[in-house]
Amino acid sequence: MGNMYQEMGICKEVEDFCQDIAKDLAERFTEIDRIAEQNQMKVIHAMQKERVDATCFAGTTGYGYNDMGRDTLEKVYASCFHTEAALVRPQITCGTHALAIALSANLLPGDELLSPVGKPYDTLERIIGITESPCSLAEYGVSYRQVDLLLDGTFDYDNIAKAITDKTKLVTIQRSKGYQMRPTFSVKQIGELIAFIKKIKPSVICMVDNCYGEFVEEMEPSDVGADMMVGSLIKNPGGGLAPIGGYICGIQACIDRCAYRLSAPGLGQEVGASLDVMRSLYQGYFLAPNVVSGAIKGAIFAANIYEKLGFKVIPNSTESRHDIIQAVELGTAEGVIAFCEGIQKAAPVDSYVTPEPYAMPGYVSDVIMAAGAFIQGSSIELSADAPIREPYAVFFQGGLTWYHAKLGIMMSLQRLYEKGLVELV
Ligand SMILES: *Cc1c(COP(=O)(O)O)cnc(C)c1O
Repeated sequence: MGNMYQEMGICKEVEDFCQDIAKDLAERFTEIDRIAEQNQMKVIHAMQKERVDATCFAGTTGYGYNDMGRDTLEKVYASCFHTEAALVRPQITCGTHALAIALSANLLPGDELLSPVGKPYDTLERIIGITESPCSLAEYGVSYRQVDLLLDGTFDYDNIAKAITDKTKLVTIQRSKGYQMRPTFSVKQIGELIAFIKKIKPSVICMVDNCYGEFVEEMEPSDVGADMMVGSLIKNPGGGLAPIGGYICGIQACIDRCAYRLSAPGLGQEVGASLDVMRSLYQGYFLAPNVVSGAIKGAIFAANIYEKLGFKVIPNSTESRHDIIQAVELGTAEGVIAFCEGIQKAAPVDSYVTPEPYAMPGYVSDVIMAAGAFIQGSSIELSADAPIREPYAVFFQGGLTWYHAKLGIMMSLQRLYEKGLVELV
């Protein structure tokens, strides 16, 4: 194995340092495998219950009336995530689009949207109108209120209670940290927050942005009271095979409105040809629990390596996991760039290109992204991205297999080591 890593460009010092750390993680990985097994059963059970068969994989064209594969897949999602209904479509272009649909379908002029967990993900700023934009919710007369987290990363219950008014229609709860250094919330924490909000105002719709969270725990936010749960198929639930798509699972009344917003009032879920993507969406969902477990192992490995080298890592080396994201605060733009170069060099696709920071649509500062993916932009595949701004943290995620994630982290360290940005202790 030593020779193989050397052929990949990893020196002996880096390899020894990393293998020592990997050795100590066996017990931790057993628990990850246990959760993956539970979730694998959950997915298979849902597929059996909804009687998935080979005809589900046939594509439809045109309007897509009576698309059995599409309708059954939506039942599988609803069944697995324990919701009344689901909208799972290739016409949902990404996670941001799914969130925009869920919000704009369920908020009307005069309503207020509340985020009780601080600033939402960058691409939501223009959807909400925090940053002015044509077609934002603000332009349509939907107001927005935000309650920041307390300094220790917990919910500010006093101010959340004060922020819930007659106008509050929908509460958006982002599970994953996104590009922030706050903790990701556990499903249990999300459940407590939802219970608190519903006690004050039972009619409020609680939506969870579940991006990067699917199959990390045994339960999902839909098991603890979320009325809508939203995510991207080029992240966890697509299992690396879905070439496009997003999902919204939740109560029937909310999903009906989402379907009308996605297609048109009156049409809803009855139109939308699946073309030829159904097999990938099913097979990806089937593989997702295992793929997610590999990604979590990679994240834990990264945390242990970079923490040992003295960097701040979120989550830290021993904390429990609630999404697949690992943040490493490298402290300098050079460190962030070197890390991303290493991830790129480990890729099966596009390994020879050098990633560089640039301005991305929907993001406020320049962003560097490293990925060599089979599906463009897929972040369940090994990828790293970082906004070039304080505190110069890199966000690392994915890896369709644990072995690839491991190689990526080793290559990132190799790059930092070559550039003299770390000393191996
Ligand atoms: C990735 C992500 C989104 C947006 O998803 P895209 O598919 O990139 O549009 C939204 N929220 C969170 C927390 C995310 O991680």
